[in-house]
Amino acid sequence: MPIRIALAGNPNSGKTTLFNALTGSNQYVGNWPGVTVEKKEGKLKGRKDVSVMDLPGIYSLSPYTLEEVVSRNYLIDERPDVILNIVDGTNIERNLFLTTQLTELGIPVVAAVNMMDVVNKNGDKINAEKLSAALGCAVVEISALKGTGVAEAAEAAIKAAESGRIIPHHSFSGSVEHAIAHIEEAVLHNLPEEQQRWYAIKLFERDKKITEKLQLGQAVLAHIEHDIKNCEVELDDDSESIITSERYRRIESIVKDCCKFKNKGGLSASDKIDRVVTNRWLALPIFILAMIVVYAVSVTTVGGFATDWANDGVFGEGWHLFGIGSGAYEAAALADGGADPADYGVWIPGVPVIVRNLLEAVNCAKWLQSLIVDGIIAGVGAVLGFVPQLLILFIFLAFLEGCGYMARIAFILDRVFRKFGLSGKSFIPILIGTGCGVPGIMASRTIENDRDRKMTIMTTTFIPCGAKLPLIALFAGALFGGAWWVAPSAYFIGIAAIISSGIILKKTQMFSGDVAPFVMELPAYHWPTASSVLRSTWERAWSFIKKAGTIILLATIVIWFASNFGWNGGAFGMVEMDSSILAVIGNAVSWIFSPLGWGNWRAAVAAFTGLIAKENIVGTFGILYGFSEAAEGGAEIWTALAADFTMLSAYSFLVFNLLCAPCFAAMGAIRREMNNAKWFWFAILYQCVFAYIVALCVYRLGLFFSAGVFGVETAAAILLAILFIWMLFRKQKKPQATD
Ligand code: GDP
Ligand code: MG
Repeated sequence: MPIRIALAGNPNSGKTTLFNALTGSNQYVGNWPGVTVEKKEGKLKGRKDVSVMDLPGIYSLSPYTLEEVVSRNYLIDERPDVILNIVDGTNIERNLFLTTQLTELGIPVVAAVNMMDVVNKNGDKINAEKLSAALGCAVVEISALKGTGVAEAAEAAIKAAESGRIIPHHSFSGSVEHAIAHIEEAVLHNLPEEQQRWYAIKLFERDKKITEKLQLGQAVLAHIEHDIKNCEVELDDDSESIITSERYRRIESIVKDCCKFKNKGGLSASDKIDRVVTNRWLALPIFILAMIVVYAVSVTTVGGFATDWANDGVFGEGWHLFGIGSGAYEAAALADGGADPADYGVWIPGVPVIVRNLLEAVNCAKWLQSLIVDGIIAGVGAVLGFVPQLLILFIFLAFLEGCGYMARIAFILDRVFRKFGLSGKSFIPILIGTGCGVPGIMASRTIENDRDRKMTIMTTTFIPCGAKLPLIALFAGALFGGAWWVAPSAYFIGIAAIISSGIILKKTQMFSGDVAPFVMELPAYHWPTASSVLRSTWERAWSFIKKAGTIILLATIVIWFASNFGWNGGAFGMVEMDSSILAVIGNAVSWIFSPLGWGNWRAAVAAFTGLIAKENIVGTFGILYGFSEAAEGGAEIWTALAADFTMLSAYSFLVFNLLCAPCFAAMGAIRREMNNAKWFWFAILYQCVFAYIVALCVYRLGLFFSAGVFGVETAAAILLAILFIWMLFRKQKKPQATD
């Protein structure tokens, strides 16, 4: 029989870190709740017969959010052979609240006290033996991050699963036990013995979902209600609070017996950092500065250098090894157009050059050569050229996440968001969305309030995800001369779009309501391990590369075909690009976008291919502007693109593509999470209309203020801008229903 180990614990207790250590897999480790929203299964290293399940974090077995439901249902319906309960040793009191409930399920439990490295460093002591006796389950001390005790924890779990022994649990006060015994007797005698107690406690707490699940008749319900009422009268509290407070009282005494804390009251180093970083006045400026640095460095300075090399070198003409000789060559090329770069330093030709020469050598058919060089390499290469930049961005993000700063950002922004009637919880999906919108949208499951959840799903993809970065970088380089502010501005436009959408939507009847409280532990700051940063960076980058090799590859082939074939004088065949199928389609739809300043067919087509995947926008430009045909003497390949745009129309194009409907994968996630076709279409429509209006205002108002151009579109833009501002600042109607 295979053994199933379930990892359960509070959010942020280190479940996923332990899961990765146990199974050798690469799941996403994050510093906030909501990262693991689906359960994940893996095999224990070296033991094919033991499977490990990583569950979303839970604070208790009374679920309030969707992800908590996932965990609880798994535990009570699938009944794993053993629960490996991860307890954050630096926050033991709160974590044991879940432990006391898990031990009632009638499933063997092993408690793994995690973060022992931090506990030991703080000089705190936890007595594992005493704790084990008090909780009635095995206790192992581990550090999932450092890997200590991990093997022992797995061993203990396997042993517990094999013995199947469940040690007797603790008792509540007399009258509670009395009611529970009655409930067990009255309704639960058909259940297996070891499960009865947990269900009885839940029925005592009047847990709605469990009551529904057991399908009890009216008479039976009335009967137990009588028992519960009696107990409530006797203890003068409602049944759920009785159980909760008894649990806390018990935990308090356990912790007093088993743990010694050294540093009571003093400020730790982490607290001191937080005094500055989460300071009421400094927090926001520090955050803004951090984001400017992250985006500016990854797109322009370091990242820009790396991308120039990738675009002009590897996917362009070629490059000098270590850059030696390129200076001398450029000087020579200026003086003498026929200079050969190979005469200076070690010259390595670019991929397109190598492939073209190869294809010519084997006498490859002209059309196939064009497909490979002008289609696939130009398209996929244009996308892959941005990998170095992405790597740098992802390293930054992984570091900020790993050290604990990102968790603070959610906390800091909660204060800002709250003023506008939004919860900081909405920001967690957005933070995750900086990597990819799909997990970002899924992370909205942590939000209890259904309206806030829908709103978050609708707005999460406004933030630039990894796939939008190449577009930002391309435009920053091609049209803004690599200006440092372009990339950070894209990020802040995303945040502004989210906040203003939040304000506008909250003022409508559909979304009004109170903000749910936001509770979240701030983990202590720590240096992330190099391996965890690299792993997270690699994971994100790899999914980008994989996409380039699959979806983007397919798309480039289709785009190459559509841009090279068409009807010429009634006959179908290869034609000039301007009369290709793609040009016909692009010209047919470009009027939609011409008020935004980019009514040329290439841009219109690119915006549409962006719906397949946002990287496709760059890939499409790569093919349509022939990026693989690097100009003589290594001249800028971006000039063709720059000729079709002005700075204003480029910025309008950028804004539109950042804010409009996301890629198909993310739309699929929106559809799944909304679970309703009407809401899905509403979300997509909202995003597109929002993007259109902002882009229109950017272009038309920009043109008006910079060149004094005024037309019908300008008037429309002014009206829309006024409407937008009115929607932002109008007084909110009193919500009708209170809930
Ligand atoms: P989950 O939400 O329970 O899945 O928690 P994660 O595995 O995502 O970990 C949350 C954070 O705690 C991450 O930043 C981890 O690097 C960190 N962490 C996990 N285990 C340890 C540990 O043993 N020691 C320390 N210092 N940090 C840890
Ligand atoms: Mg996790």
